[in-house]
Amino acid sequence: MRFGATAAFTILWLAITPHPASTQSPPPQTPSPVTPAQPRQPVPPRAWELSEAQIREMVGRVRAGRDLSPKAWPNGARVAVGLSFDFDNETVTLRDAGTSVSQLSQGEYGARAGLPRILALLERHTIPASFFVPAVSALLHEPSMKAIVRAGIHEVGLHGWIHERNSQLDEATERDLMKRSLDVLERLAGRRPVGMRTPSWDYSPYTITLAKEFGLLYDSSLMADDRPYEVVAAGIPTGMVELPVEWILDDAPYFNMDRFTGIRPTMNQDEVLAIWKGEFDVAYEERGLFILTMHPHIVGHRARAAMLDRLITHMKSRPGVWFATHEQIARYVARGAGVATQ
Ligand SMILES: [Zn+2]
Repeated sequence: MRFGATAAFTILWLAITPHPASTQSPPPQTPSPVTPAQPRQPVPPRAWELSEAQIREMVGRVRAGRDLSPKAWPNGARVAVGLSFDFDNETVTLRDAGTSVSQLSQGEYGARAGLPRILALLERHTIPASFFVPAVSALLHEPSMKAIVRAGIHEVGLHGWIHERNSQLDEATERDLMKRSLDVLERLAGRRPVGMRTPSWDYSPYTITLAKEFGLLYDSSLMADDRPYEVVAAGIPTGMVELPVEWILDDAPYFNMDRFTGIRPTMNQDEVLAIWKGEFDVAYEERGLFILTMHPHIVGHRARAAMLDRLITHMKSRPGVWFATHEQIARYVARGAGVATQ
């Protein structure tokens, strides 16, 4: 399958790659043929032309439902901390049909250098984490999957097939990719995932119903609260636990640079540490939930991993911090709120 995909990819690449500049003179210009009239496509209404009912339907497709904050965290803890690592590696480049060897190597760093550093850090602190893995990344890095599982305390969750954007898919394709991804992760991690983080936190109108169809317990991709909540779809509570995320609590916007655009983050790791510490301290005061999203190919670099070490040390210096996988947190809040999970 991999070779077939590679061959198809090569043909596509050849088809779209311009040939070297010719030394011959250009062909004579011919008048362009008259284009026949195309049938008119229906034009969607502009935002200010939508009715209130249309607006309510749009925002109501996926909505935050009841607050699932527990009365107390396990063993009287003041805060629940869920550290998560999206093991994207090369898939962000592959998703856009990128073939840049340089960019692929930048992704490969996540598996080769970043992950071992992070696993060692987690082992040193004896804390669990959740790893959300695109299926293609798992296929490319089977030894990494074994290393995550070998630690015995981490969770592996769904993160798309090849880091695709769900909002660009039709329902049948999204269902097919979700099923294939679950099958691959079950085979390579030894256990079927119970939770998901959508690639790039991108959501289609079908994502939540498909997640229910496949029996998932929780999602960690939406941003409607700091507290855990139940996802409501088209006005109906789904029983799906949401452990919300935010770009503030993600390493990518602070550190990711793009060689071919003007994106050049200027933040150093100490500034990011100050932001994350501040977020944690308020979560601690509020007896709330602290979910942090990171990537081995980003935070796994030397000084950044050292910064994460300092953050964890800061959190551990406070009494009553419950470090848990997303699954453990989701099961705990679902049970406490009487949410019927599958
Ligand atoms: Zn990702």
